[in-house]
This record gives sequence, structure tokens and C-alpha cells, in this order.
Amino acid sequence: MKKNYRIADKGSDRYVVGEVTLFDQKNEMFKRMLWDPKLHELGKKYYKTPVLPTNNAGHRLEDLAMVNASWYLEHNFGRSTWGGQTDLYRWDWNGQYSYPLVPSGLKIDGDDPIKITDGIKKVGSFFGATKVGVCDLDRRWLYSKGYTKAEGGKSFDFEIPEEYKYVIVLAIEMDYDAIACSPDGPASSATGLGYSRMAFEAGLLAAYIRGIGYKAIPCGNDTACSIPLAIDAGLGELGRNCMLITPEYGPRVRIAKVFTNLPLVPDKPIEFGVWEFCKTCKKCAEHCPSRALSLENPTEAPIDQSNREGLLTWKIDAKKCAAFWASNGHCCSNCIRTCPFNKKSGALHNAARWIIRHSRVFDKALVRLDDLFGYGKKKNSDKFWSKI
Ligand code: SF4
Ligand code: SF4
Repeated sequence: MKKNYRIADKGSDRYVVGEVTLFDQKNEMFKRMLWDPKLHELGKKYYKTPVLPTNNAGHRLEDLAMVNASWYLEHNFGRSTWGGQTDLYRWDWNGQYSYPLVPSGLKIDGDDPIKITDGIKKVGSFFGATKVGVCDLDRRWLYSKGYTKAEGGKSFDFEIPEEYKYVIVLAIEMDYDAIACSPDGPASSATGLGYSRMAFEAGLLAAYIRGIGYKAIPCGNDTACSIPLAIDAGLGELGRNCMLITPEYGPRVRIAKVFTNLPLVPDKPIEFGVWEFCKTCKKCAEHCPSRALSLENPTEAPIDQSNREGLLTWKIDAKKCAAFWASNGHCCSNCIRTCPFNKKSGALHNAARWIIRHSRVFDKALVRLDDLFGYGKKKNSDKFWSKI
């Protein structure tokens, strides 16, 4: 596909309008449900209530089994959703190769950051990342404290040493047909698989970096906010659905990142009309089953402590979103499924992307066409199962 974006003057700084204080990870919704007394009942429902299979498409035992299997690598060998720093996301390395038995202490020449960056992108793609970008580490996006779900949940301090100057950001595409079934099982499986792949790909890339003699800290959702780093790394823009929108896959990606002291060349941030298009298109908010997304213009005002301050963005009411997930028994991806940027590649879709990038005149018409052609409509999960 031809490049459907232009280089932007600013990365995530384009949304900054005030003082940006560091975000404490305990205020992220999945963590708040563990400690916030106001969310005690919701937390009990989300974390403690068994989900029973039904005879409804997308909610059968097969669906539940596939969701569980999709999360397997993240839940057993990654656990960034728990707080990170373990297994594939471990920060340390014993310096030993298991096979082949390369002596420890070897290091590649760091004189050619362009070549090293090309190499990192090659290896990141080889390990399965759909897109790989690089940015300077902007410390405003680090969490002030981490939060682990272990032992019932607790905050912890961490420090990223100054020598970690760069972040490699990995975007991992989720299956289009599975997400089309949201909020049913196949879409939930796409999410789980995304998290498992995040652990796999970030963990392996970190091991590679250590193998060439440099340091690496692999992360999933832990340690720093992923979306601003992805925007800084030129992977996309922010949408009304409060997600990263990529030019190729829209919001249908998950994000992992690796902090490193490897000498790299940062990518340039991009833009392709998302900010303006979202002001006209409200599909994600209109199809949000919990009304958690804003139908209004971007605002600085946070809804509660789960939103960040100092940013002019659309805000999500994360309590409402989590309440729907808890009652649905599956992750929801309606705000990914319905987004007009969530399209497979193709001549017509690429033409629409080109128009959005160049003009505001057709925004309304494009949203109407999107509806008329039935894009974003929920697919029956039985169709997902019957498709080979
Ligand atoms: S995940 Fe579902 S409930 Fe949550 S904001 Fe998106 S559409 Fe709404
Ligand atoms: S659905 Fe529309 S409003 Fe929402 S993020 Fe996508 S383009 Fe923006």
C-alpha cells in the first residue's frame, strides 16, 4: 500500500494543552476495580464471577475455550496485565545463551544507528510485529508508579535509568473477521491473542537486543502509556475512541514496547486526517453499548482519575466500559469494529483514506457510505466458526 499519511510537526505533544503530570497506574480501570471502594461491586463482578457458556452464538463453551486459549501466553508467560516485569516481560537477563553457546559480553558496533534501526525493524517484523516504530523516550508518558494485581493488588516504584533513551513500539494487528463479531467470543479471542503476541514479540525483541550487547526493557500495558509512545513513534493518531488509529488497520491493533539504550534513529510522527474526521464521524460512540465514549468535541476536562490531565482529547468513561465488559462476559471491541479506519486494504478503501487525508468536504458522505455498505455491523459469531 502507498503511504497514506503525511509527516506531522508534533507527536503526542499535539494533544498537550496544560501540565501533564505522570499517570499512576493504579488509576487505570482494570486496577481501580481492585482497590477503589466505589468500584468494589464492579470489581467483584468482573474478577470473581464465573462466566457460564450459553447456547447463543459467540457465547458457547467453544467460544469461552478459545478466549482462554488466546490469552494463554499472556496469562502464563507474560502478565503485563498484572503489572509486568516477569517472564517474557522480565527486565533482567542472565547474560547466557542457551543455544548457540555464544560467549557473554559481546557487543555490536554502535556507530551506525541507521543500520541498527533497520535491523531492529527487520527483527521486530520477523518476530511477528505488524508495524515497528521508534521514538525518543518522552518521560511524561511513564507511569509515576506501577501497580501489580499480585497479592490482591499493590502499587510499586520503578525507575527507568537515563541511558534508556529510545522506545521501540510494536503494533500487532488483530484479526478483522474476529473483531467483526464484537462483543462476542471471537472478538474477545482476538484481544487475548493480541496480548499473547505482545508478550511473545516484545520478549523476543528484548532478548535479541540483549544478545547484541545492549539493554532492553520489554513492556505490554505496564510501565508507560502505550498510545502516546506509539503516536511519537509514527504509528498513528489518536481517535475519538481514545485508541491509536493506524493508517492501515485503524484501531485494530494492540501495542507493546521495548525501552532500550541501543543507539537508534527515531521515526517521524504522522497525520492522516483522524482528528478532523472524528469530529464528524461518531460511529464508535454511537455503537458503544455502555455510552462510555464522548459524542462531544475533545475536552481538557477529565471525567475521573482514569483520564489524564493537561490533554485536549476525547475522554472515555472507563467505569461504564468496564461495567459492560463485566456484564457481557467477554471483552468488547465495538469501538474498533465500527471505526471506518478499520478496513482491509483495497483500492476503494485506500481511495477513501486518500480523500480523508486531503479534504474535509466528504467526511459526512464517507461516514454515510460506510453505514450504507454495512461496514462495522456486527457479524454473527457462528459465521466466524464456519469460515475456514
Ligand atoms: S470497548 Fe465497548 S464498551 Fe468500551 S468504550 Fe469501546 S465500545 Fe464502549
Ligand atoms: S469510529 Fe469514527 S469517530 Fe470513532 S475513532 Fe473511528 S473515525 Fe473516529
